[in-house]
Amino acid sequence: MPELPEIEVLRRSLERRLLGRRVVRVRLRALALREPLDRRALRALGGARISALGRRGKYLLIALDDGRTLAVHLGMSGRLTLSPAAAAPEPHEHLAFELDSGERLRLRDPRRFGAAFVVPAGSLDDDAHFAHLGREPLGEPLAGAELARLAARGRGPVKSFLMDGRRVVGVGNIYATEALFRAGIRPDRGVRRIGAAAWERLARAVVEVLEQAIREGGTTLNDFTDGAGAPGEFQISLAVYGREGEACPRCARRVRRIVQSGRSSYFCPRCQR
Ligand code: ZN
Repeated sequence: MPELPEIEVLRRSLERRLLGRRVVRVRLRALALREPLDRRALRALGGARISALGRRGKYLLIALDDGRTLAVHLGMSGRLTLSPAAAAPEPHEHLAFELDSGERLRLRDPRRFGAAFVVPAGSLDDDAHFAHLGREPLGEPLAGAELARLAARGRGPVKSFLMDGRRVVGVGNIYATEALFRAGIRPDRGVRRIGAAAWERLARAVVEVLEQAIREGGTTLNDFTDGAGAPGEFQISLAVYGREGEACPRCARRVRRIVQSGRSSYFCPRCQR
């Protein structure tokens, strides 16, 4: 499932090729993804020019010059790519935007957990999709004291806290697992049992792991590619995620797996306390 680094990689790869392009025509082949597609609002993007590409959490935000924003979420297995307009539609290509460059921006989503919707001018902050989202971890980099404050009234394990998008957005299972390894903190340790120094290490680790993943083109375990169809390479850099029974890269002890809230967590029992 694409997480924050993958969406940021996608944003950067599409930015150069989409800025200034005009949407010529919108083609819809599905009625709904995880929510109904507003056909009228999407079709009405025809004629608008793309003025900026942004991101909020795992939403890619394509800003139009008239103030509207096209928001796209890739869900579990969505892909957004650019190809020549004349290329035949691919299976599960639910939505496509023909551009004045002669290219087509197409959204494929076999499992239909993604979303695409238009936000009217001036209402991005009020939109229900974004209202509950927490702080972005990059930009103004996350600090330990801030993480501690966000966790102050919590009581669960630190990994669940890290993955709670109402506190900090975009830290999913893979990156939470890797950040906890770098910080030397067990994923099932309670947030109440984490001191200031450990919060500081964790904040730094979250920023580092996300930034490294972006530099390496994201993590491709199944479907993810950037806007030109290229897979990421961060999966090679994963220290513990998906590596149950393999040697810890730091101490060679076997990596363990536990299940927390239905998701796998991987950790080194010696390096993480
Ligand atoms: Zn170790």
